[in-house]
Amino acid sequence: MKSNLKLKLELKPSIEGKAIKRLMLHVCCAPDATVPFRDLKSEDWSEILGYFYGSNIHPEEEYRRRAETLAFLSEGEGVAVCLRPYDPEEWFARAAPLAEEPEGGERCALCFSLQLEAAAAEGRRCGATHLATTLSISPHKNVTLISRLGREASISCGLTWEDRIWRKRDGFLRSVQISKELGLYRQNYCGCLYSMAHGR
Ligand code: SF4
Repeated sequence: MKSNLKLKLELKPSIEGKAIKRLMLHVCCAPDATVPFRDLKSEDWSEILGYFYGSNIHPEEEYRRRAETLAFLSEGEGVAVCLRPYDPEEWFARAAPLAEEPEGGERCALCFSLQLEAAAAEGRRCGATHLATTLSISPHKNVTLISRLGREASISCGLTWEDRIWRKRDGFLRSVQISKELGLYRQNYCGCLYSMAHGR
């Protein structure tokens, strides 16, 4: 793994007298993080940190490929990303009862919650003030649901929800272009075992 990827993030100490805005950005994959990383870096955040959940990804070889692609992007863009240890059993224990759900249904709502709650908890642990997610860059995902779940996860951890819809203003198209320029691996299915048959 590249040096910008960490198992645990440690934030810088506060700067006295200055309002600190520390953003924990939940990252679903490297291609979807391209536009958020670049846009957020142009704003007035004191610090931006990424968090990759990953335990929904199947099989492990695919998880590794996505994590390595994210490590490459993290290094190139200068945004540190925390990798949660891969634990597919934990994800399957929660999601398997919803195996027959269609993509976009109850299983995906649970999956979003697991990812956002884990990112919010890590944000609280390391002193973040805000939470956002890259999930909203996808034209296939329900951004109203993502916003609601993100806000709930933020509140439960004492964070402020930063409600960004990254697919606005051609965000998805830009992410495809940047991914091509950087030669990033772009997967053709959402991530879990159940989504493999619905590759897009
Ligand atoms: S299709 Fe994607 S969002 Fe839905 S459960 Fe699978 S990995 Fe999660």
